[in-house]
Amino acid sequence: MKYCSNCAGPLSVAVPDDDNLPRHICDGCGTIHYLNPKIVTGCLPVYEDKVLLCKRAIEPRLGYWTLPAGYMENAESTTEGALRETREEANAEVTISHLYTLTSIVHVNQVQMLYLAELDKPEFSASSESLEVRLFREDEIPWDELAFTTIRNALQFYFEDRQKGTFPLREVILRGN
Ligand code: ZN
Repeated sequence: MKYCSNCAGPLSVAVPDDDNLPRHICDGCGTIHYLNPKIVTGCLPVYEDKVLLCKRAIEPRLGYWTLPAGYMENAESTTEGALRETREEANAEVTISHLYTLTSIVHVNQVQMLYLAELDKPEFSASSESLEVRLFREDEIPWDELAFTTIRNALQFYFEDRQKGTFPLREVILRGN
């Protein structure tokens, strides 16, 4: 961040009074610009004994498989965001069960929330964000071609929990690759 989004003036980095971390502060209007983690929200869509994955059509990790997820937008809830991302990336409608993985990705300042969800019908298709969308049985999961650690974790949790028939919230903290 170099310029103020309020007055376009130059910014300095300093610890404000009553604070304990350095912030971007506008030299002109005095606005303090706080940088905080972004939220990524998405789904782990299940249909019968299969899981829906999308092959990424965009960087980063183009060509790798992922679950439908993306940055939350302003004026939506985390579940609304998860449903929207599933529509955008997989052209699929799902019914959300519950929050399943909550991951603090500390080194990239992100929080990722994945909801366990049921695919309403076996209807889905590729999109501008996905080269291919398909259902995978456990023995078909492309473990070496998954886009992100969080996706790998969620799938491992899911297949582990499915054996026990219970899917508790999994909280994970990642601090590096
Ligand atoms: Zn300013």
